Amino acid sequence: MEDHLGLANLLKLKAVFRRYDSLPEHRKQELQLLQLRRIARHAFKHTAYYNESWRKADVTPNDIRSLADLSRLPLLTKADVMANPGAFCANNYTGLCHFKTATSETRFEFDARSVAIAKVKSLLALSSYFKRSGLRSGIRALAMVNGQEIGASMVPPGPVIEHMKILSYARNREQCFSEMDAFQPHAIFAYPSFLSDYARHIQQGGEQAGVRLVVACGEIVDNKAIDEWRNTFGAEVVCQYGATESLCRIATSCPEMRLHVDASLFALESVAIGKAMHLILTSLFNYRMPLIRYDIGDLGEVIESDCPCGARSPVIVAAQGRLSESLCLPDGRLVPAAELLDVMRPIPGLIEWQVVQEGNRSVRFDLVCGEAGCDMRSLVASRVREGIARINVTGMDVKVQPVQRIEPEPNGKKRLVVQNDQAARAALSTGR
Ligand SMILES: [Zn+2]
Repeated sequence: MEDHLGLANLLKLKAVFRRYDSLPEHRKQELQLLQLRRIARHAFKHTAYYNESWRKADVTPNDIRSLADLSRLPLLTKADVMANPGAFCANNYTGLCHFKTATSETRFEFDARSVAIAKVKSLLALSSYFKRSGLRSGIRALAMVNGQEIGASMVPPGPVIEHMKILSYARNREQCFSEMDAFQPHAIFAYPSFLSDYARHIQQGGEQAGVRLVVACGEIVDNKAIDEWRNTFGAEVVCQYGATESLCRIATSCPEMRLHVDASLFALESVAIGKAMHLILTSLFNYRMPLIRYDIGDLGEVIESDCPCGARSPVIVAAQGRLSESLCLPDGRLVPAAELLDVMRPIPGLIEWQVVQEGNRSVRFDLVCGEAGCDMRSLVASRVREGIARINVTGMDVKVQPVQRIEPEPNGKKRLVVQNDQAARAALSTGR
């Protein structure tokens, strides 16, 4: 990759982002507006989709005079991109690489500069995480990934990482854990469900001496899980939020555990659509396939922050996970996974769970209980029923059953809600 992009360019980018971090807030906002106007002009001029859709909505890039004017541009859905990905590709930029999301075959393309930015941003993030966790050199890092390509760009081996191991989620977890026992990583990059499984492995006698840093991404995280990792590993915890389409991290948790948006690369809004707040992404750097006001399919709210950590960039609060991971009640209400998580979190003896909506009016709760005694199981089951009644999951036939374990999806993620009702699935895929 360096050959293609030039080491000099990477160093230049690194200096640019370092300088950016030290700018006062008003200057950062001016830059964000400048970048927004620039990419909007580019998208309007060089992509078929934006040209047509903005003309129809009677707006042009000249209408963007402030960051707030972003809301004048039409929203874009995943379905719009899937219908004709080529219409989003700029006619004056070539793509260097492309990735498909886990849920669709749509290719998201990125130009050479975007790939360089992703690499530089990864290195800068890593060095700040290492600093936070007191790791200096000779680090053994472990990343859990599916695609080796994405994994390598997520955790690039640098001068500080002495040994880098990449394991695939597709492998059996017990086998992963025995390799980790042998490798003894200082830093682990993985999905939250994997980290929780690994924490249980350690609690049950697995070997762990020196994990100092845990970086979680890709699934919804709750505070109980973060506390568990801290207690089990004695490590610094960092949470990241990103997506295949964004290439780079959209937000990263600060030491106060607030998710700060990276405003040097993105403008993130939250917009009420239907009955939920959707996260709407505008990427400011990918000129090959600009995504402007893209409904990324995640629920949450973005607010201006005055965080004790000192950062002033907006933060994502009430992140509620993917829209597709919601229950659809017969009266049309949505129950996002995060709401269920709030109910399930405090139930003692409940290790893991998954909800499967089998039909319009039927839902099944699969529960993994700690102490497998019958009394304990029925106690957990009744607490679950009480909990969901409290958040008004009504009008549904609720089944509760104990299971041995919750299996991850082929991509390594564990879903809290599996939506098997066809009509609900269709409604959630559009969000409208
Ligand atoms: Zn902060």
